[in-house]
Amino acid sequence: MLWRKMRQMPRERAPQNWKSSISWEVPQAAGSSTLAASRSPQRRVRFALSLIQRASYEVKGSAPQALKSTRENLMTEIRSTVILGSGCAGLTAAIYTGRAGLNPLVLEGHEPGGQLSMTTTVENFPGWPEGIQGPELIENMRKQAARFGATFQPVDLNQVDLSANPFRLQTSAGEILTRTLIVASGASARWLGLPSEHALIGHGVSSCATCDGFFFRDKEIAVVGGGDSAMEEALFLTRFASKVTLLHRRSGFRASKIMLDRVQAHPKIVLRPNTVIEEVLGVEEKEVKGVRLRDVTTGEVTTLAISGLFLGIGHEPNVKMFAGQIDLDESGYIRTTGNVLVTHNEVVVPGLFACGDVQDRRYRQAITAAGSGCMAALEVEKFLEADGH
Ligand code: NDP
Repeated sequence: MLWRKMRQMPRERAPQNWKSSISWEVPQAAGSSTLAASRSPQRRVRFALSLIQRASYEVKGSAPQALKSTRENLMTEIRSTVILGSGCAGLTAAIYTGRAGLNPLVLEGHEPGGQLSMTTTVENFPGWPEGIQGPELIENMRKQAARFGATFQPVDLNQVDLSANPFRLQTSAGEILTRTLIVASGASARWLGLPSEHALIGHGVSSCATCDGFFFRDKEIAVVGGGDSAMEEALFLTRFASKVTLLHRRSGFRASKIMLDRVQAHPKIVLRPNTVIEEVLGVEEKEVKGVRLRDVTTGEVTTLAISGLFLGIGHEPNVKMFAGQIDLDESGYIRTTGNVLVTHNEVVVPGLFACGDVQDRRYRQAITAAGSGCMAALEVEKFLEADGH
């Protein structure tokens, strides 16, 4: 059956060397004969087909068109598009690809809804004059995407094979094949890892000064970190807060000199180096009341009364499943070209797109993530159209 299908392939889809592009790995227990022992190409293929349930194939060298066709014939369903991530970028991509009739499948990952689902009021997303709760905004987008045919799977993507199209995705619920993949897996803010910190996220603990700074007008707050993010957050927060204490775990700062100079010169900012946070206070009251601090040089423990704690200790882009298959920048973010196209060794990987925070260390806003999600979806449409689907 498969052989017949292969013979029916148009000439350009069945190049002369297609057989040599696939190597069959036959399990030892398969029998005494071997593929090499079969004389004619037809017999060799028939033999392979009889073992197809047990055989696995691997690509040798480049990924020829014949491999693509073989995969398409072997597998029951190949999706038009899969979206990895269900934050602002992923859901916007789902709305657009859904409206284009592509029945997108959204893999929700371990942080469904992304960072917006962990914030409270969002006041800078256009269209909501009174603001909207982050989780509600995400839920609205999800419903909007579902209305246009998007489906959602609460699974993690463990491994991907981008060496040929369709791409093979190994998820916690099995394998998925797809012609296009939109990576919208975001960047997760680093946290200190304290239970009290976790309990107060959205109640005074935040990792986004731009999102939440406004709520701390005339309040005393603290920022943690010694890099440029922390400096930027501290400077930004002086617009609202009456006092900003910058807490850093050692005496040396990673931040650029110019940013550190600005922070040191600012009348509203107090630097406390060599200081670590032992606990965030206010869990019972469900709002931040202060932090318990320890000076790492003297061991002295003190309490600082604050209403808000901002983490500026960096972000981790969620890309580990793509290791070695795509180009990343020096901080681990996906390097994109033409806004959302992804490359490997500086060559565009056809059918692969990235949007949102996983490829944006500069803006990291809900609206910029949504914008790039839209771009990725439009590129998917163009790609599938050009590829004849
Ligand atoms: P960085 O990795 O540069 O800095 C992270 C900071 O957080 C470090 O000071 C680190 O301390 C501290 N830290 C990390 N983990 C912990 C922890 N568990 N507890 C306490 N402190 C911790 O990240 P940034 O986000 O600041 O910057 C990332 C990149 O983005 C940099 O290249 C930066 O220059 C760039 N950037 C540029 C900006 C600009 O130009 N306007 C703005 C923001 C970022 P330690 O130093 O001890 O390791």
